[in-house]
Amino acid sequence: MNNIQNSCVDCGVVHCQHQDKEYPEFCPTKELTQNDIDEIINLYNEDNNKEVSRISAEIESDFYCQYTRVEEIIEFAKRLNFKKIGIATCVGLLNESRIFAKILRKEGFEVYTSACKVGAMKKTAVTGLDEEKTKITGNIMCNPILQAKILNNEKTDLNVVIGLCVGHDSLFYKYSDALTTTLITKDRVLAHNPAGALYQTNTYYKKLLE
Ligand code: SF4
Repeated sequence: MNNIQNSCVDCGVVHCQHQDKEYPEFCPTKELTQNDIDEIINLYNEDNNKEVSRISAEIESDFYCQYTRVEEIIEFAKRLNFKKIGIATCVGLLNESRIFAKILRKEGFEVYTSACKVGAMKKTAVTGLDEEKTKITGNIMCNPILQAKILNNEKTDLNVVIGLCVGHDSLFYKYSDALTTTLITKDRVLAHNPAGALYQTNTYYKKLLE
């Protein structure tokens, strides 16, 4: 365990939030110069970043521990006056996406969905994956770049990820023109509750720390 670089996970005071102690030696807040702060503030002044940040904080305050994430996404889209919501879904979660789309439509949004296997392109042809590796999961690839392009063409105002794989989600975020939030984070073992592994590192998942 050598060469550990201390950062926020190694902080015992969280003075940035509580403002009741002192910043630790390695704290990045302590290192900020006025130029750094100005640079960040300028970024919040770009596009609608300030509005997005403010509305996110308002929703947190107005519905703290009252709204589910589904309700928070709806409220977020409404307050930003978004009209068209894109859903980038895993085919394995199409049913959940259907329910979410139904709720969004009931709330008056236009909805356009793109499923991960769209394009029916081959893993072996596009990614160079060994055919042997397609035996369990098949050769039709998840296609997050195409999913993003389709939702970009539809000019969605906000995209919502439902259950894209680790890495495929990364590519979707990379190529989505619209702001993206995540409703469901895929975890095939833990019923899409990846935090469950962390909550059980003192029992069933202690292997993760060994
Ligand atoms: S920003 Fe500083 S005070 Fe806040 S958690 Fe990180 S190290 Fe701790």
